[in-house]
Amino acid sequence: MYNRQRQFGAHAPEIEERLALLAEASRVLADASLEPPAVMERLCGLVVPLLGAACALRLLTEDGLWLRTVASASAVPESRARFQALLSQRVRADEGLAEEVLGTGEAQGVEAVLVLPLRARGRALGTLTVWRDAPAPSSFEPGEQLLLQELADRAAMALDVARAYAAERQARQAAEVAAGRLARLQHVTAELSEALTAARVAEVVLEQGLSVADAKAGGLWLVEPDATSALLLRCAGCTPDAAERLRRMPLTGDAPGTRCLRELKPVWLESEDALAAGGAERPASSSACLPLVVDGRALGVLVFTFGLPHGFDEDERAFLHLVAHHAAQALARARLLEREQRARAALREAHQTLEAIIQASPAAIMLLDPDGTVRMWNPAAERMLGWTADEVLGKVLPVVPPEHWEAFRQSLERATRGTVLDGAPLLGRRRDGSAVQVAVWTGRVHPASGPPQCLSVMVDITERQRGEAAQRFLAEAGGVLAGSLEEEETLERVAHLAVPAYAETCGVFLEDESGGVRCVATAGEGSDAEVPPPGLAVVARVIQSGRPETRSGLSEGDPTCARAGGTCAYLCVPLRVRGHTLGALTFVTSRRAYDAQDLALAQELARRAALALDNASLYRDARHAIRLREEFLSIASHELKTPISALQLQVQSLLAGLARSGAQFDPERLKRGLERVDRQVKRQTLLVNDLLDVSRLSAGKLELVRVPLELGALVREVAERFEPEYARSGTPLELSLAPEARGQWDRLRLDQVLTNLMSNALKYGRGNPVRVELEVTEARVLLRVKDGGIGIATEHLPRLFHRFERAVSERNYGGFGLGLWIARQIIEAMGGHIEVESVLGEGSTFSVELPRG
Ligand code: ADP
Repeated sequence: MYNRQRQFGAHAPEIEERLALLAEASRVLADASLEPPAVMERLCGLVVPLLGAACALRLLTEDGLWLRTVASASAVPESRARFQALLSQRVRADEGLAEEVLGTGEAQGVEAVLVLPLRARGRALGTLTVWRDAPAPSSFEPGEQLLLQELADRAAMALDVARAYAAERQARQAAEVAAGRLARLQHVTAELSEALTAARVAEVVLEQGLSVADAKAGGLWLVEPDATSALLLRCAGCTPDAAERLRRMPLTGDAPGTRCLRELKPVWLESEDALAAGGAERPASSSACLPLVVDGRALGVLVFTFGLPHGFDEDERAFLHLVAHHAAQALARARLLEREQRARAALREAHQTLEAIIQASPAAIMLLDPDGTVRMWNPAAERMLGWTADEVLGKVLPVVPPEHWEAFRQSLERATRGTVLDGAPLLGRRRDGSAVQVAVWTGRVHPASGPPQCLSVMVDITERQRGEAAQRFLAEAGGVLAGSLEEEETLERVAHLAVPAYAETCGVFLEDESGGVRCVATAGEGSDAEVPPPGLAVVARVIQSGRPETRSGLSEGDPTCARAGGTCAYLCVPLRVRGHTLGALTFVTSRRAYDAQDLALAQELARRAALALDNASLYRDARHAIRLREEFLSIASHELKTPISALQLQVQSLLAGLARSGAQFDPERLKRGLERVDRQVKRQTLLVNDLLDVSRLSAGKLELVRVPLELGALVREVAERFEPEYARSGTPLELSLAPEARGQWDRLRLDQVLTNLMSNALKYGRGNPVRVELEVTEARVLLRVKDGGIGIATEHLPRLFHRFERAVSERNYGGFGLGLWIARQIIEAMGGHIEVESVLGEGSTFSVELPRG
């Protein structure tokens, strides 16, 4: 080991010392564990003080223009400051001694300074400069120079090796980083390839991307459809406040993200300064703004922010670029997917809507092959026609009857050629065999695959046609019914209206005055029968209740139906007008069932018929009233004139007698003459009173004066008054009067009633005995006037108590036809009741019932 304390200049180092020095140098330089600067320091430590007072090892900068001092040493502490100043300087490599040394590769010594080149593999690496202080020998001997050169060469070699090693290590590290990034990128790409939505893409890029890129925060903005701004889709590593602030990125201006989007190029912000200059709101140490570009169009921007000042080397830029590229691809894919899903959803929805329409359609919708094979059949088709989808799918349409099939098939062919069949009528049949009238719309459809098909829409127009037919029928009926005001004719017309369209047999029934039911007209097949089905019992019930009765279905062997086979349906509807039931109409058929529509039609017909009948009866009544009035006028003139003529004759005869005989005029004859005059005047007075009563009663001015009265006494009084007349005509009069028939009545008016009844009994009694009976109960009295006279025909009975009504001819019997009417008005005003029972040719009994109060 050489003596490190020996100083240069004391004597030239011995050969052993040199060898030891070199060996030491080799050992130091071979110490691979030391970093190059430490090795160089140790080398300088070997040179000083043995070979110089100070030394400096300088290395060329990368650009080759400067020599930078990397190690130095000085022997004595006092001189260190001087040398330090000298050594710290950077020295230009292309000037003076250094240039010469580096250029030639040979050491150059100038007095006390020796500059030696550091070279390895023919390349200059730097210099080793050695200084010597006076008084030591200022120049370097060749041996020392050789030794120093040897040291310099070894140092150069060691440096070269160290540099190669460092380069290799760096390369290895870079490769490792790249491999690591690649692995992480693969991971991100794998995740991205599975991301199906933009949100998921953003999640993967930011959650994975941050760690992959070693970034502190990041965000992904998507360009809005209107391309005026980009919206933050997701961010990571930033506060909610910051996220809110950065939510919208306008596409105008010079912010880094905006610029990046506009220029479709990444923007690298490598320092806070650059960020601030780039306009970022909150400068970070460094940032990368990466456009997300697909097909030359920016979908958005991805920004990574790094916590520490960050330079982006090529590898990292390429790496981040790749992340952005994959993110953009995934975004585009997700968008396509979303669009496709939306389109699929819209298609599905459209399909469902269409399906729902078809299912809910009230019209039958069916898809048919051109040969008529059914491919689709909706619920309305099932409801309308009876077949279920399972029964018809794949089979030929069963609705069309064989006789219409060829025409239908041809229409399908025309439809497949493009002709639209617009509401063509078709008489089809249902599954149960019943007929159905449908309107068919058929058009061509092109399925996604396969030959064209026909879409047929069928609407059941049976009801509509029935409705129209019913309207036509009613309009026609209205005309027919209005055609006559004769009741008989009207009845006949009513009966014939519904046959045969709605019934095989139709009957018209009317209620007569006595409350009985008569069949007054019939039409159709059973019209020869006296009473057509369903019979009088049903009709009477309907008239009584005013409600229709029906038997819609057909039933076997029903006795109410007289027709052969015994199956029929019937409708019996009341003839109602002005709240009153006149009678009923019956409709009978054995060909089909009656339904609600038939019933409605029958009721409407009955309503119109009742109106027509009512009109006819009003017309009849009006005519009757006119006839009565004419009769009355002729009777009145006769009745009023006859007594006056008789009176006149009587008075003239008396006057002539008096003129002839003077005082000798026979007083007996005068008395008889005056009695006749008196009778005529009384008769006249009665007639005039009746006429006065008519006008009074018609005006509702009957005023009763009730007084306590014993009716038996009144009967006797009236009977006495009639005695002469009864005697004259030889009519016996019998009275059978219960005693004490007391009550509160109008005496004069009851006198009037009794007078009328007894005068009629005399007038129409044919001289047969007349009997007046009076019965008394607790609350009432009952008076009967019975005669054995001409009697009254049954049909006249109900109207006898009406004004001007008479049951006899004016030629045979005089009278206004007012007496009974007046009597009824009086009796009813007193709360009583008058009625008649009579047998034509046998006599009549008039009964008056009066309450006693
Ligand atoms: P008239 O003045 O015609 O007698 P009434 O009102 O008294 O009028 O009677 C109406 C009709 O009733 C008569 O025209 C007659 O046809 C019938 N009539 C009334 N009383 C009798 C009777 N006792 N017997 C038969 N017919 C009668």
